[in-house]
Amino acid sequence: MTKHEITFPELHPPLSTQAAIAEADRCLYCFDAPCASACPTHIDVPRFIKKIASGNPLGSAETIVEANVLGLSCSRVCPVEVLCEGACVYHNINHKPITIGLLQRHAMDHFYASSGKLPYKTVPHAKKVACIGAGPASLACAAELRKRGLGVTIFEKRSIPGGLNTYGVAQYKFTPSDAAREVELVRATGVEFRQAEIRSTEDLERAYDAVFIGIGLGRTQPLGIPGENLPSVLNALDFIAAYKTAQPLPVGKTVAVIGGGNTAIDAAVAAKLLGAAKVSILYRRAEANMSAFAFEYEHARSVGVSFVWNARPVRFTERSVECDGGVSIPCDNVIIAIGQSRLLETLQKIGAIELRNGQVVVNPRTGQTANPKYFAGGDCVNGGREVVDAAAEGKRAAQGIIEAMGTDYSVPKVTSPTVQNASPSGQSGPSPLRSPEVRNNG
Ligand code: SF4
Repeated sequence: MTKHEITFPELHPPLSTQAAIAEADRCLYCFDAPCASACPTHIDVPRFIKKIASGNPLGSAETIVEANVLGLSCSRVCPVEVLCEGACVYHNINHKPITIGLLQRHAMDHFYASSGKLPYKTVPHAKKVACIGAGPASLACAAELRKRGLGVTIFEKRSIPGGLNTYGVAQYKFTPSDAAREVELVRATGVEFRQAEIRSTEDLERAYDAVFIGIGLGRTQPLGIPGENLPSVLNALDFIAAYKTAQPLPVGKTVAVIGGGNTAIDAAVAAKLLGAAKVSILYRRAEANMSAFAFEYEHARSVGVSFVWNARPVRFTERSVECDGGVSIPCDNVIIAIGQSRLLETLQKIGAIELRNGQVVVNPRTGQTANPKYFAGGDCVNGGREVVDAAAEGKRAAQGIIEAMGTDYSVPKVTSPTVQNASPSGQSGPSPLRSPEVRNNG
């Protein structure tokens, strides 16, 4: 547990061993495994479930981490309802799908409780790769590169590695302590972590054979309306990061959250759990247009968050949000969660990479950018999707790097939904953006 870590009730409590085995026994071990196809990292779901059913959770976890080194975080934060569990054949007969996320968590909890290590037996490789950013995409990229023995250094400007998993995922889904376990798992493969802000990439280009860009996105975007700089107006990412890794920013009795995506839901639920008596989400469009996942929406309602539709803020005061049409909503604090900005300034310093709408354009098969020395993945490419998308794209880029270096490595089918259906940039696809408003504001 980090120094300031707060304990929130778990969203989905873990399964007991007995319950896990009973649930695993329900699996039909489908030959074509639509659940595995729906996973961006293509974890062999029936195989890991089979190992749980046969009393081998450690073997099950090894199957998971072989495909996805972030198996623990993905078991906790993945929107399984629209991925693996959403594809389970049990839906076809109107039965409850297998609870794949909980089974994965069961195996991964066992793995970490047993001080599990990645089963890599690598031969050292002369090539070295720098990864910029220590979030899920870089961690997945680094772990995959270490499988082939390449030297990897991860550069991160913040004091704690882990990126979104450490600072941005709501505490009731995943804690910084759990994020640290995954970082340590990757570190144990021989990856070096350095806290440093990259101001010029020229030194990296000289010192490394390839560079992976996994810098994610920037701060919450401003609304550009009066009152936004008032101390009572907070931005969602600062709010979440503060209560996860530092001191919680105090919230009053009444909180208004501006936004309609999953980050808005996370901030609203956290405000409620931190003691606000009344929390409302103000969304500028109608209920049907809200981009948050349905289960996130239901979760927010279940903890008492209320929603105000078609509310367009035009001004903040110390005690209210003033909306279009003369509507005034009283509140002690406002939390803005309308999407993250792109890190354009950083990206523009990197020579000869192509940007589109502020996102890095990559080859969807290899993650390679227009500058052949650079590869990229995660939010800076896809605009802000799920942790599992970042994991898939980091792994894909590692395989692209290995291939580009002439190492014998046939690039397997490691493509996220983002990438499979994408334009060359990987910027369109069925998986909703985590912070959808960002799409129109780049
Ligand atoms: Fe098991 Fe459902 Fe996957 Fe079939 S689709 S293998 S029943 S989890």
